Amino acid sequence: MTSKEELEKRLQLEKIRIENVMSLAKDEKLGKIKGGEQMVAFVDEDACIGCDQCPTVCDDDAIEMFSKPLKNPNIEVSSNRKARILRDECTGCRLCVLVCPTDAISMIER
Ligand code: SF4
Ligand code: SF4
Repeated sequence: MTSKEELEKRLQLEKIRIENVMSLAKDEKLGKIKGGEQMVAFVDEDACIGCDQCPTVCDDDAIEMFSKPLKNPNIEVSSNRKARILRDECTGCRLCVLVCPTDAISMIER
C-alpha cells in the first residue's frame, strides 16, 4: 500500500509539473501579444465583468475601476463595475491581457 509520505511526494511533483506547464503556456501567450511603448491596453467594456484582477497586476497604476450605469433600468444590481485604462500611465507591459478571465483587454497602437 502507498504510504502517506509517498502520496504527498507525488502530489508535490504533480504540483510542480502543472506550475511549469502553466508558466510555459503564459510565456507562449505573452510572446504572441504585441506590447511595449508604442502600444496601450484597451478594455472592451461589454466583456469586462469587473473582477478586479487587472488593477491588481498592473504595477503602473494604469487601470481604474468605475461604476457604469446599466442599460436596462429594470434590472437591479448592487455593482456594475468596469475597468478603464489610464493611457498616459500604461507602459504596454501586457500583464493585464494575460490575467483577464474574459479576454476583455487587448493591446492597440497608441
Ligand atoms: S499593459 Fe501593463 S501597464 Fe498597461 S494597463 Fe496593462 S498591466 Fe497596466
Ligand atoms: S481582468 Fe478583465 S474582466 Fe476583470 S476587471 Fe479587468 S478587464 Fe474586467
